[in-house]
Amino acid sequence: MANCDGGYTCGRCGEYVPTITDSELYLRYVMGEVPTESLLSSPERHIRCCPEIAQYITDERFVSVVDEDPDSDKRLRPSEEVCSRELLVTAAWSRLQEVPMVGGALEEYLLPGLTPPMVKEPEEPEAETPRPRLGPENRIFW
Ligand SMILES: [Zn+2]
Repeated sequence: MANCDGGYTCGRCGEYVPTITDSELYLRYVMGEVPTESLLSSPERHIRCCPEIAQYITDERFVSVVDEDPDSDKRLRPSEEVCSRELLVTAAWSRLQEVPMVGGALEEYLLPGLTPPMVKEPEEPEAETPRPRLGPENRIFW
């Protein structure tokens, strides 16, 4: 995110990942699967280079991808699972396409109801725990 203009190379094909809209990492972030802290440290990949996730994008603007890996091929998965995954991934993808046009904080692009997962690094204790904000519930007089 800090280096939007510079971009990164894809961990699978080695080519440049030109924009955030092509980034599988950011796609998974919007889906709430990647902690914010990991965006800078995780490898970039083209969405197309990750058929295991790209196969779930069912948007007419996206040329569909087939995953030939029997471990992740959605054609071998239960249809309910595939359906809900398609809804999620497609919604996230569609949202990701808006980022360059709308701008703003990336957190705003998380799908509604999702929060980024906490980083799970065993060697590093969690420094920040989100604190519940206390409202002025102790107000008695108007
Ligand atoms: Zn690639």
